[in-house]
Amino acid sequence: MSIQDNLKTIEPTIPAHVTLVAVSKTKPVEDVQEAYEAGIRDFGENKIQEMCDKYEVLPKDIRWHMIGHVQTNKVKYMAPFVHLIHGVDSLKLLKEIDKQAQKNNRVIDVLLQQFIADEETKFGLDDKEIRQIMQEEIQSLPHIRVVGLMGMATFTDDENQIRNEFKTLKSNFEYLKNNFENISILSIGMSGDYQIAIEEGSTMVRIGSSIFGYRNYSI
Ligand SMILES: *Cc1c(COP(=O)(O)O)cnc(C)c1O
Repeated sequence: MSIQDNLKTIEPTIPAHVTLVAVSKTKPVEDVQEAYEAGIRDFGENKIQEMCDKYEVLPKDIRWHMIGHVQTNKVKYMAPFVHLIHGVDSLKLLKEIDKQAQKNNRVIDVLLQQFIADEETKFGLDDKEIRQIMQEEIQSLPHIRVVGLMGMATFTDDENQIRNEFKTLKSNFEYLKNNFENISILSIGMSGDYQIAIEEGSTMVRIGSSIFGYRNYSI
């Protein structure tokens, strides 16, 4: 199946209120171009260097999403152009994004990553830390706009567990929406679980392998 064929299969399953972010990490520029020609404008990368390299050569109306774990010392490279940073999981990182956004005379939209999975390896804040950041820190970071939450469910076949993890995130999302301005994005759902995520209130899905095929990390 080609990238275009994959998109033709996936796009009808995504409702209009949900944004599809095509996750192009590890994939060559030609693959991004092919998805672009099929109409995709939102692309997700998890390494800043790779995203910057692709940004340089690809059309400038692409909206670049940083979906990976961000190292503070690399924020400056993407600050001029990044559209949305999904995986913000510390106050230190928020402060650095604010500083680099100010240097570039812009406000950068971010999502706070909430830890929901039953795994040690996934990064994120808990709901109390998120509420505390929103209440106590955000006012002093004028070059950042927190627009929602991002999360990753446990990698499991247990659909109920995935659903419950998404529900946890959705309930904090609703709380934030009712108590703070600008909250509109709930970034949940990947190739394996995006349909469940949409049923549980996702407004943004991040889909890689179902569009671009399996990733080969050894090359
Ligand atoms: C790689 C990645 C995705 C896409 O995963 P697929 O299973 O290939 O769809 C989504 N979100 C994050 C944070 C990722 O790192």
